[in-house]
Amino acid sequence: MSEQPAEVSGPASGIAHVNHSVETETVAVRGHLVLHVESCTSCMLCVRECPAWCISLRARQEPDPAPAIGGGRKERTRHVLESFEVDYGLCMYCSVCVDVCPTDCLSWLPEPTPVGTRAQLVHGIEQLHNP
Ligand code: SF4
Ligand code: SF4
Repeated sequence: MSEQPAEVSGPASGIAHVNHSVETETVAVRGHLVLHVESCTSCMLCVRECPAWCISLRARQEPDPAPAIGGGRKERTRHVLESFEVDYGLCMYCSVCVDVCPTDCLSWLPEPTPVGTRAQLVHGIEQLHNP
C-alpha cells in the first residue's frame, strides 16, 4: 500500500498570522519618590524601616518658636531637615518608606524610574522635592 503525500493548502509555512491590534500600555506607578520637605519631622522612621537601607538624612536641632504647652519654662526644640537622600541604585520600590511616614510627606510620582550612573542614582532634596 502506497502512502499519499499530505496536501498542503494555504500559507506554505502553515503559521497563523495573528493581528495583535490591542496595544498594551505600561504604566509606571512607583517611578520617583516625592518628598514634601516642609512636612518632614526628621523622625527617621523611613530610614530605619527601609529594607534596603537606601535612605539617609541629616537634621539639626533648633529652638522651636512655638509657645510651650501648659506654660512650661523648658525651651522646646525642633528638628530641621538639612539633607535627605534616596539611593535608587538600591531601592526596591517596596513603598515601605511611604507607608510608615507619620506625616505623609513621601509619595510616588508615576514617572519612569530614575536612570544614570551610580552617583546619579542618589537623589537629594532638590530632586526629591522637584523630581
Ligand atoms: S521604596 Fe522601599 S527600598 Fe525604596 S526607599 Fe522606600 S523603603 Fe527603601
Ligand atoms: S518617615 Fe516621613 S517624617 Fe519621618 S524622616 Fe521619613 S520622610 Fe521625614
